[in-house]
Amino acid sequence: MGQEKLLSPEEKERYLRQLSMADWSEEDQLKLKSLRVTVMGIGGAASSIINNLLLLGIGELVAIDQDRVELSNLNRQFIHNAGHLGMSKAESLMIYARRLNPHVKIVAKQVKIDETTIGETVAPETDLIIDTFDKWVSRSRVNRFAVKQKIPYLMAGVVSNCFYTALLHSPHTPCLNCLVGRFQSPSFVGSFQSAIFGINALPLAAMGAFSVAELIKYLKTGTFTNQFLFGSLYNTQQDIRFFTLFLSKHFIGISKEQGIEWGPFWNSEGIIKLKLSKDPTCRICGSE
Ligand SMILES: [Zn+2]
Repeated sequence: MGQEKLLSPEEKERYLRQLSMADWSEEDQLKLKSLRVTVMGIGGAASSIINNLLLLGIGELVAIDQDRVELSNLNRQFIHNAGHLGMSKAESLMIYARRLNPHVKIVAKQVKIDETTIGETVAPETDLIIDTFDKWVSRSRVNRFAVKQKIPYLMAGVVSNCFYTALLHSPHTPCLNCLVGRFQSPSFVGSFQSAIFGINALPLAAMGAFSVAELIKYLKTGTFTNQFLFGSLYNTQQDIRFFTLFLSKHFIGISKEQGIEWGPFWNSEGIIKLKLSKDPTCRICGSE
């Protein structure tokens, strides 16, 4: 995090209600103001998280997405709108963000993230990478980068009527690969690449709130809760079965130890929390 600045009178007024909370001080607000966050993807999950970051008043937001706004995005990607169809998601976000909170510095880039561009696009001094990409193979790339650069990494997303989120920072916590291990097999990835997956707008608000709350806890304490949150609005077996396909053996194992059975045995509504541990055999963070 960079040098703490002062709050302007206008900022003090804007954030008056949150500064009035018992557990939120001006020092906390300044920590937030010195925070530089990079968000991968400017879609539905990012809409919810970015919205919270803008409202709370982070210092700088860098957001990256290669796509343009399409009509089928608008059931959930609320930072875009019908007037922005065909516009790059990066440009659409710039317009939304400036209107919502002009105190936040915004950099939005239309870039396709691959092995080369990730290093050129993500500044090493970023305090946190938030990965909302919808393909595990893309997330795998971001995870490798975050582990290598030792940057805290928040992974969050929505599947159908469910959401999940975890704030990771190897070597203090496991990495994404310890938890979601099966996307590496090319035949497995290929079979899902072209499918259209259902996404409901409803879990987005909960996902955005719990994700950013993890960030706030880290900001205030400097430590990681090392937990994985999974929420489901309805007990829909199909949603859980799909999510289970991607989980690593290690993650399924630690879930079982904590009384959670993924797959056809699932019978839970609401939010579950799992304590995380590293997979000692992980080929991304295991050797550290
Ligand atoms: Zn790992």
